[in-house]
Amino acid sequence: MNEPSHPPSRFYESVSAYFDRAADLTNFPAGLLDQVKSCNSVYRMKFPVKDDEGNIVVVEAYRAQHSHHRLPCKGGIRFSPHVTQEETVALAALMTFKCALVGLPFGGAKGSVRIDPRTCSAGFRERATRRYAAELIKKNFLGPQQDVPAPDYGTGEQEMAWIADTYRAMKFNEPDLYACVTGKPLDLHGIPGRRQATGLGVCLGIMECLNHADDMADLGLTPGLEGKRVIVQGLGNVGSYAAHFLQKNGAVIVGIAELGGGIYDPAGIDLRHAQHHFRENGSLAEFENGEFHENPAQTLEMPCDILVPAALEGQITAENAPRIQARIVAEAANGPVDHDGDAILCERGILVIPDLYLNAGGVTVSYFEWLKNLSHVSFDRMTTRISEDAKTKIIDAVEQLTGNRLDREQRVLVTAGAHEIDIVHSALAETMAVAYHSIHDAWKTRDLPDLRTAAFYVAIDRVCRSYQAHGIFP
Ligand code: NAD
Repeated sequence: MNEPSHPPSRFYESVSAYFDRAADLTNFPAGLLDQVKSCNSVYRMKFPVKDDEGNIVVVEAYRAQHSHHRLPCKGGIRFSPHVTQEETVALAALMTFKCALVGLPFGGAKGSVRIDPRTCSAGFRERATRRYAAELIKKNFLGPQQDVPAPDYGTGEQEMAWIADTYRAMKFNEPDLYACVTGKPLDLHGIPGRRQATGLGVCLGIMECLNHADDMADLGLTPGLEGKRVIVQGLGNVGSYAAHFLQKNGAVIVGIAELGGGIYDPAGIDLRHAQHHFRENGSLAEFENGEFHENPAQTLEMPCDILVPAALEGQITAENAPRIQARIVAEAANGPVDHDGDAILCERGILVIPDLYLNAGGVTVSYFEWLKNLSHVSFDRMTTRISEDAKTKIIDAVEQLTGNRLDREQRVLVTAGAHEIDIVHSALAETMAVAYHSIHDAWKTRDLPDLRTAAFYVAIDRVCRSYQAHGIFP
């Protein structure tokens, strides 16, 4: 990563330290590792946006392209009043290693716009988003083959639609123009399952981890998700879907931390009620059951098996890590555990499933959306009918041979062709399983200190090999 222009943030320092720890264990030349660590380009911009009263507000924004070893670059756009250049660079670096880890052909990138999406009007948000997109287009920092953003903290489908529309207005001759951004609404060339993808990936990753009986025995846990007590921080896109899928697969949500307070109930919380209450009241205060903590950080320290921080970076530090009671910390957010907090958790025998791996579901399904936009055809269009016909022929033949018949309902179930959402979900599940095995394998066979080091080790290895394959480095 390049030297940041301001004093480095804890987040930036943490990512840098995680990289160094894993890089030191490889045999690649120092120059190559320096290149892999460096952020290739940062575009910092300021542009005017009119507020609803007609006053000019100067907005600061960034796009960091951490690595060009694969193109396009890929990474979300964050809207928050707290974004900085070094945070954006750290997030872009994580994207490079995340994509390498789950086998996606992208360099890492990240964008940030310093506005508060929770207090500014929809009109202001739209003007800021469109102007940001236009600035990126002017400098070639946005495009299907250059750099493809997606949602992140504070952004969602609406912002991606505005970006796609701005791109369309400025590049109307480009045939693949909708591949300039992912996470778009379904009606604007999006893909089913993208909205849920990061949270679902979090759930799938946790389930992979819980399948390893030996690791669970070391933690004093039984294998499998059934009955595991979970605390989730953040009820945004990632946290709410992660909690939903975890609960659906047998976990018990015992705590939820949000801005304005947290709730804890060892008997279990009805997630839908909690979400409804939070939406209606803007806070979890006075929720129907459980104890309420005015300071949501307190909820993270309550007894549970799995803690899922799904809000922002720097939530578990040297200050609170000694009080975390979970046996597993599952990093759904980017960088929720800082370097000092991580050392304490590891020393206390708490297993950390790293962000690099765990929240890769979003960019994985973004990859499918990008492919779909480039090929101009949905994944199921060419296959659903043919697979249904083939299965029908097999069932007909088996029935003829055996003389037994399936009833109508069974026949429909067995012969149904895969729809796009089924293809997306199965490809996501396969991606999360294969990636977990690769880091688990590296952790155990190379005797690496923890899963995070293993994740960085595998990712660095792949990025270095890619540079070497270009013939640039020894
Ligand atoms: P979001 O804006 O949809 O939701 C974040 C939620 O966290 C909000 O509800 C906010 O109120 C809450 N929050 C903020 N500070 C908090 C605090 N101190 N305590 C409790 N709650 C707090 O954002 P998101 O898209 O869900 O992203 C969350 C994290 O996941 C970020 O780190 C992001 O980089 C990462 N991530 C997101 C995606 C994605 O597809 N959206 C993909 C990969 C990683």
